[in-house]
Amino acid sequence: MDDAKKRWLDIPESLREKIIQNVFCRSCLDETTIVDYEIEPSGKNDVILNGSCKKCGHPVRRYVENDF
Ligand SMILES: [Zn+2]
Repeated sequence: MDDAKKRWLDIPESLREKIIQNVFCRSCLDETTIVDYEIEPSGKNDVILNGSCKKCGHPVRRYVENDF
């Protein structure tokens, strides 16, 4: 497992669910669910989710601070 994925999985599942369902889409101009996402490391402990909007398919990103 790569480091970014491990960081992501360190976050409690209930919180991860909330995060993926609470991503802003600049095309929908609304909160959406991120789908087909990849996980990138950022900084020392953080990750970035890179994926698509569930509603319209527009690329969306979500920065996740991992301070657990
Ligand atoms: Zn969208």
